[in-house]
Amino acid sequence: MSEFRYNKLTRQWVLFAPNRARRPHNNTYNQTQSINQPCPFDQGNESLTPHELLRVPHKKQNWNCRVVPNLYNALCIEQENRSYKFLNFELKSGFGAHEVIIETPEHNKTMTSFNTHELFEYFYTIQLRLKDLKKDTRLKYFSVFKNYGIDAGASQEHAHSQIIATPFLPKSIQEDLDFFQQHKEETNRDFFDDFLYDEKLFEHGILKENNYFVAFCPYASQHPFEVMVLAKDPLSSIITFEEYHLYALAEIVHYLFGKLSHSLGDFAFNMILKNGAIQEKHNPNRFHLQILPRLFKTAGFEIDSDIFINTFPPEDVAQILKNKKDQK
Ligand SMILES: [Zn+2]
Repeated sequence: MSEFRYNKLTRQWVLFAPNRARRPHNNTYNQTQSINQPCPFDQGNESLTPHELLRVPHKKQNWNCRVVPNLYNALCIEQENRSYKFLNFELKSGFGAHEVIIETPEHNKTMTSFNTHELFEYFYTIQLRLKDLKKDTRLKYFSVFKNYGIDAGASQEHAHSQIIATPFLPKSIQEDLDFFQQHKEETNRDFFDDFLYDEKLFEHGILKENNYFVAFCPYASQHPFEVMVLAKDPLSSIITFEEYHLYALAEIVHYLFGKLSHSLGDFAFNMILKNGAIQEKHNPNRFHLQILPRLFKTAGFEIDSDIFINTFPPEDVAQILKNKKDQK
């Protein structure tokens, strides 16, 4: 049973999830899948996962993406959603959702080698799951992320992403949304229009643009080789996308993975899809996606001050990426 405990010092919730400790994690991937244990995410091993929530394409024998509850879940949808007190501490029950998106039926395929159609189906799968999860109004925030590589926190080799839905908006997300809203009220302009204007004015970080998205190395990137994809239109989240938006997103992410792989090889990374507060009628977010290569470990100064030390200026990174020909 997991629970949220409120940390009075940081004013943030901490999720205690003992179930996560049962994950088969080792120091290397090779040990993760022991020789006698078949991979539960492979085609043909569907019976080894918890009950399937979705497969894409629908009702076909051959699937490209499947979504299942996380076996080592941090939150549980069957738990009662309640807040309570213990001594002088505040707690919340571990109510929420924790799902795994199996991105491919093939064990050795990585997202960086997906073609545009495979990426389209991946984003479409996420859209469908978020639309479904949104129906449960007790869920307030939907974190959509991918960890790839041991340095990015992954414990399972087979290509997968996760959705964790919490019964409240995390503090940092609420602060971001308040900031976007405040910008609108003070300037009568959308924060993201101004943000993109500045990045285009700087110019050196811009990597690629299509009808609906711009990809760039942000001027004040926190991580070396950090890349952002931002919607050009005021689309608050992926659930507001039409099919052509999903395809345009897949196209630009495919381009980025080609460039990043060529420069960095098989690199560990976190990918995060920022959708704001999709449960709210007014969601001041603009959809953006971050690819954060994990080339260095976060260390003491970052943990203490929240100030990141980045050794690669984004203008240099953009130059390196643009000069590299696609891997394929
Ligand atoms: Zn596998």
